Amino acid sequence: MSIMFRFSMFLLLARVGVVAQEPAFRQPLRSYALTGVTLIGGGGDAPAANQTVVVADGMIADVFPDGSKVLPDSVVLIRLRGKFLLPGLIDTHVHMATDPSGTDNRTATLGVLERMLRSGVTSVRDMAGDARVLAGLSRDARVGDILSPDIYFSALMAGPSFFKDPRTMASSKGGVAGGMPYMKAVADSTDLRQAVAEAKGTGATGIKLYANLGPELVARIVAEARRQGLLVWGHAWLDPARPSDLVRAGVGSISHTPLLVHESRDSMPDLSALFSLMKKNNVLLDATMSAYRQWAQQDSSKIYYYSITKLYTAAAHKAGVKICAGTDDDQTNFVQSEMELLVHDAGFSPKDAMIAATKYAAEALGIGGVCGTIEKGKKADMLVVDRNPLDRIENIRSVVLVTKGGKIYWKED
Ligand SMILES: [Zn+2]
Repeated sequence: MSIMFRFSMFLLLARVGVVAQEPAFRQPLRSYALTGVTLIGGGGDAPAANQTVVVADGMIADVFPDGSKVLPDSVVLIRLRGKFLLPGLIDTHVHMATDPSGTDNRTATLGVLERMLRSGVTSVRDMAGDARVLAGLSRDARVGDILSPDIYFSALMAGPSFFKDPRTMASSKGGVAGGMPYMKAVADSTDLRQAVAEAKGTGATGIKLYANLGPELVARIVAEARRQGLLVWGHAWLDPARPSDLVRAGVGSISHTPLLVHESRDSMPDLSALFSLMKKNNVLLDATMSAYRQWAQQDSSKIYYYSITKLYTAAAHKAGVKICAGTDDDQTNFVQSEMELLVHDAGFSPKDAMIAATKYAAEALGIGGVCGTIEKGKKADMLVVDRNPLDRIENIRSVVLVTKGGKIYWKED
């Protein structure tokens, strides 16, 4: 018997031993099937009752009506009759590392990330912070060293005058805000080829344009980012660049509904032309209702901003603009709150709110090909709930289990 053969026998026996000691479903299963579920979010169609979803090696291997195919004995069955299966939720606007030495210290952040994952959030897009920390968290989340949604993050660019903002300083400790590869001051004279390459080197998925940029510079940044294979996202108004400047330049999403009013000098502009342009260029609106509602609750002089958030988010949705669910308020209220606000304050159906937090959110992150719906060949990021969220959006909180990359997190764990 060769040493290699004996070694593999040892590994095999060791594995069998572990499985025998614990209930099988507590182990990271290579292959299992969720059966008896009502499938919501299987690619845009109506909910389908009594479905089986097979997971193998972290991916969705098959989806079919219960009993219509024979499963091999090696596949562990998880019976979930009467439960509802949805794609894992995605928050398109979080900030997990604005001040890693203070409020966003590792202990606090890991607590938030774990609660987020267990609530059903399987991916987040971080919209600017200390990318040195975000790259580490993203890596740890991906390999399973921490309990966390997968983290996609951005590298911020803004005009030089923006970098007096204390948040940019907190995110740039040990360096200079505006001079970091992920927190970069850009002007007409900036070597954009170099700046975009450095942004990409941080591990960011996209560049976030924040403030004090003109339309020509925005267009040049987007063109260079596209050339280097990096997405671009922006605040809806960059003072001076207007929402339509960003949409024309080809950004993927624009954030914060109330900023849309800067499209015109009117106090309550008609934005139908902007909405048509967004539809035509497939630009998503990252409404961030949660942030404005929280602001209004904390300071009554800010109620106006929440009023226009409701009004224009509803109008954009009605005009057919894709809205993605981002909170910008990630420490206490997760994306489920944003879904509830979309339904109660912006006229979304529960189904449309779900699409905003799954399919469209995945598109905003540039991961629509692998996440956001439950279909064969996609990543097994899923959420099982006890009660139907299409009846009442709050039912999205009745979590039974969450899977991320096929790994199962039971509610009672
Ligand atoms: Zn933000």
